[in-house]
Amino acid sequence: MELTRPLNNGRRIRVVEGDITRIPVDAMANAANAMLAGGGGVDGAIHRAGGPSLMEELDAMRASVAPLAAGGAVATGAGALPAKFVIHAVGPVWGGGEEGEPEELASCYRECLRLAEERECRSVSFPAISTGVYGYPKQKAAPVAIGAVLDFLSTEARSVEEVVFVLFGAEDFREYAALLGSALY
Ligand code: ADP
Repeated sequence: MELTRPLNNGRRIRVVEGDITRIPVDAMANAANAMLAGGGGVDGAIHRAGGPSLMEELDAMRASVAPLAAGGAVATGAGALPAKFVIHAVGPVWGGGEEGEPEELASCYRECLRLAEERECRSVSFPAISTGVYGYPKQKAAPVAIGAVLDFLSTEARSVEEVVFVLFGAEDFREYAALLGSALY
């Protein structure tokens, strides 16, 4: 399943149901952890599909950047993935929503887009950051993710023309598709 929403400045948002490691883009965002140490979920899938070079690059920068605060991100090459870069973002752990989680989650999306712009990327894909092991309720995360991306694409974007939300499962896909259908821009 897939849906494309054009914005009136020529940029677009795509929503795709599937495995993020299989969708070609310039920059693929990853839901990493503060130590950039690899894990399960989408992080595990990205490292498995990308191969050891991703972790080698993270190992080399860990001492100077980790632990990364929630909302932060770092970029590496993409190894065997169909991308030029992987941008490893650290989402907030859900603690009820009153501890800055929405701001930190929005910051993940913004930071990834900023790093993608620095690398002159045209397309960037995102998983639903924080909505797995980190426990952020999916229905609360979706409007934050879409809002941050819409805002960036309508104001700051230069090289980035397309953002792809890759959702794992039909339910998440429908949530994003419905929100994008109703978003005003
Ligand atoms: P976090 O620790 O940030 O919560 P997770 O990896 O546990 O990260 O989950 C984030 C989201 O990624 C979840 O919604 C999960 O369903 C989804 N996900 C897991 N594997 C993939 C994949 N291969 N492609 C896209 N999304 C994935």
